[in-house]
Amino acid sequence: QREKDQQLKTLYELLEAATTYYEDQLRTNDTRSDAVNYLKSRGLSGQAAKAFSIGFAPSGWDNLLTHLAGNDPEKAKRLKEAGLLIHNEDRDSRYDRFRNRIMFPIRDQRGRTIAFGGRVLGDDKPKYLNSPETPTFHKSRELYGLYEARKHNSKLDKLIIVEGYMDVVGLAQYGIHYAVATLGTATTDQHLERLFKIVPEIIFCFDGDNAGREAAIRALKTTMPVIEDGKEARFLFLPDGEDPDSLVRQEGEIAFSERLAKAQPLSEFFFKSYSENADLDSMDGRARFSTDVLPAINSMRPSLLQQMMLDRICELTNLSLEQLQTTVNFHEAITP
Ligand code: ATP
Ligand code: MN
Ligand code: MN
Ligand code: MN
Repeated sequence: QREKDQQLKTLYELLEAATTYYEDQLRTNDTRSDAVNYLKSRGLSGQAAKAFSIGFAPSGWDNLLTHLAGNDPEKAKRLKEAGLLIHNEDRDSRYDRFRNRIMFPIRDQRGRTIAFGGRVLGDDKPKYLNSPETPTFHKSRELYGLYEARKHNSKLDKLIIVEGYMDVVGLAQYGIHYAVATLGTATTDQHLERLFKIVPEIIFCFDGDNAGREAAIRALKTTMPVIEDGKEARFLFLPDGEDPDSLVRQEGEIAFSERLAKAQPLSEFFFKSYSENADLDSMDGRARFSTDVLPAINSMRPSLLQQMMLDRICELTNLSLEQLQTTVNFHEAITP
C-alpha cells in the first residue's frame, strides 16, 4: 500500500510538472505563435487561459519526455503510467501522447491535475485527444471545470453540464463560472450523484445539433433515477448550430443567463419528448403512451416529482392511478 501511495504521488507530481511545462510553452516556445493565434482567433482571453491553466504541447515526438524524464527509463515508465507517453511495443519506441495541441489540464476536486485534453490547432482529426484511463483518471467520474467553478465560488447553487472544454472556458470568460463538462462521454449517474452532493440544481446545456439533442434524451434517462426531493434538473436547448461557447460569445452573459433562467424543467422535457409521437386523442394512442412512459417513471426514486408526474399521466390518459398500477409492474414504494 505504501508503495502504491508513493507511485500515485509520483504520477501527480509528473502531471503537475507537465501542466507547468505546457503552460510555459504557450508563453515561451519558439513555435508558440500558431497556438497563440489560434486561441486569439477563438476569442480566448489571457485571463481565461490562466484561470484554466491552458497550455501548448509543441510538435515533436519527445519534448515532454526529454523535459521530464531525460534519459531515466524509470521516469519514462511513470510518464507512461500518467498517460503522457505512448509506448510502441513492436518498435520499443516511446513518444509524447500530446503533440501540437492546445492543452487543457483536467483537475480533481483538490485541484490536482489528473489528466489532459488536447485540441488540434485547426481542423485536423481527431479534434480532441484525452488522456487514457490511468490510476489518477477515471473519466466516467470526472468533470472538467468543477474544481475551477468551486474555486471561483465556494457556495454554488447550480451547475451547468456542457459538452466541451471550450464551452466551460468560454462561459467562464463571459462571467458564467459554473459550467462543467463531461469528458467525451455521456453523463453518468456517478457524475450526477457527485454534482447533486454539491448543488440542488443541474442544467443540461448541450450543443444545438443532433448529437446534442440525443445527449439530452440520454441525460434525461440517466437523471430520472437519481432525482430526489429537493433536487432539480433542467434542460436548455440552443439554436441550431450553436454551442454554449459560440452562443455566449455572440450574445453575451445577460442574454445567455436569460436562456438559463428559462431552461425546461425535467418533467416538461419528459412529457414533451414522450408525447411528441403519441396520439393522445385516441384510446390506442393513450394506451401506448402509458406503456412508453411508465418504465421511465418506474425508474425514479419515490419522490414528490414522481407522484406529480404520475398524476399528469393519469390526466393525459384518463386512467386512474389504480388502473396504471395494475397494468404495470410497479415499484412497491410508490403504491400509496
Ligand atoms: P471546439 O469548439 O473546440 O471545436 P467543441 O467542444 O465544440 O470543440 P464538439 O465537437 O462539440 O467540440 O465536442 C464536444 C466535446 O466532445 C469536446 O470538447 C471533447 O471533450 C469531446 N470530443 C469531441 N471530439 C472528440 C474526439 N475526436 N475524441 C474525443 N473526444 C472528443
Ligand atoms: Mn457538437
Ligand atoms: Mn465549440
Ligand atoms: Mn461543441
